[in-house]
Amino acid sequence: MTKYIFVTGGVTSSLGKGIIAASLAKLLQARGFKVTIQKFDPYINIDPGTLNPYEHGECYVTEDGAETDLDLGHYERFLNVPTSQANNVTTGRIYKYVIEKEREGAYLGKTVQVIPHITDEIKRRMLLLGNTGDYDIVITELGGTVGDIESLPFIEAVRQLRWELGSNNSVVIHLTLVPYLAAAGELKTKPTQHSVKTLLEYGVQPDVLVCRTEHKLTQEIRKKLALFCNVNINAVIESIDAPTIYDVPLLMLKEQLDKIVLTKLKLSTKNEPDLENWKAFLGRLKNPTNEVNIALVGKYVELPDAYKSINEGFVHAGAANETKVKVQYFAAESVTDDNVAEKLKNADGVLVAPGFGERGLEGKLATIKYVRENKIPFFGICLGMQCSVIEFGRNVLGLKDANSFEMNENTPHPVINLMEEQKNIKNMGGTMRLGAYDCEIKKGTKAYAIYGKTKISERHRHRYEFNNAYLEQYEKAGMIASGINPETGLVEIVELKDHPFFVAGQFHPELKSTVANPHPLFVSFVAAALANKKALKK
Ligand code: GLN
Repeated sequence: MTKYIFVTGGVTSSLGKGIIAASLAKLLQARGFKVTIQKFDPYINIDPGTLNPYEHGECYVTEDGAETDLDLGHYERFLNVPTSQANNVTTGRIYKYVIEKEREGAYLGKTVQVIPHITDEIKRRMLLLGNTGDYDIVITELGGTVGDIESLPFIEAVRQLRWELGSNNSVVIHLTLVPYLAAAGELKTKPTQHSVKTLLEYGVQPDVLVCRTEHKLTQEIRKKLALFCNVNINAVIESIDAPTIYDVPLLMLKEQLDKIVLTKLKLSTKNEPDLENWKAFLGRLKNPTNEVNIALVGKYVELPDAYKSINEGFVHAGAANETKVKVQYFAAESVTDDNVAEKLKNADGVLVAPGFGERGLEGKLATIKYVRENKIPFFGICLGMQCSVIEFGRNVLGLKDANSFEMNENTPHPVINLMEEQKNIKNMGGTMRLGAYDCEIKKGTKAYAIYGKTKISERHRHRYEFNNAYLEQYEKAGMIASGINPETGLVEIVELKDHPFFVAGQFHPELKSTVANPHPLFVSFVAAALANKKALKK
């Protein structure tokens, strides 16, 4: 029978429930259990696909094309197992389903209510992945903070499920904050007591407290938390700030979070976790022999969470190269032909980021012109690739005002165009080209040298595409399509022939980079940046 772990959050948001859930999952996986993680978000949007990155951070895309919460990225990076649409559920999705069923007449004669109809649907979805029989343990992270009005139906669903599942089949972990008051020189337990009290009012007794803290928890504090929150003293877990999120599984191991959970679930603790590869990764991450500076030029640079997977892709690729990768952000609007050399003077490699809309376009084009002409390693992702095509069209092919149809519908040269099947789409949500698509790589290209094979699959999230009417012209002038979608002929990768590293993909490689499998494009780009730095003896 599948066992269930629920992770709730108390006191404040942003405590890192996703990292704790992913770290626990890693430890359980390392002990040989089949584990998955799902996230339930209390907002009304059907998914985060239509949210501005500033609202919600990056939108993470799964193999099956779901636009999801960025925590799913942590799950995949830690576990190296793909997630899917079923791993992210929102209030909006629950209500949509229930309301559509009501219209079909499924509840004929009945009043449709939050309890039982909404809570029943939440429970059904909480059990979906477990019911596949593919997992020993399903971890469910509840978004939001206990006490929020919008979280209530989810907490109620957990309460009911715990009763239905019976004892020893579920565990509730409450992630909370134990703040340090500098003036008093003390750690404070009261906020945690209050948030547990709120959970108790809803009928849920947490089994484990994971306490985020900037200072070590003393035995006395642990005792106090245990006594006032009705948990065993060994179930008060310290989660102290760590230099990297990849330390957290080992910190949780030290606190025996996995053992405590398994004991409560009456599962075997016989197999010690095998974390050899994880530790080897941490060793490489923490003992770099080199350092490179990467400039990331994009639109959402004030919020690093907007480029979460890209940042993590660099962490993985840095470790693989035993190189510390310092990513410096540049607001695309601030870059011009006149200041680009000064701005990018320390950059060993340059990445132009994904994005939407016209803001910052000219700065991205100025960046790409500069790195193309000065042979600085360049990596373009999605909009970054589209910009490299626009820049080449304008400045090399002389296609005056070449542009993407997204930026200018009246451009004389729509080198990036809207596909036929996208033209009649009116709804914004879930209608882009989303999820995994095959790509065929041409032998003898840089892409082939990087991937080492001809058949790859990468994840997409975009509406616009390279316009194949221009392909011959581009290839003749030296920008070649080294990756093509075998079914549609769409261009997936472009690269420059006479450049040390100028590679750009229409897809999002960052979504597939994990600790166990750093993405080859990121690994090669970091290596190219390092080679560039060494060549210039910076
Ligand atoms: N705005 C572009 C498109 O929709 C690129 C999207 C992206 O960078 N993810 O095609």
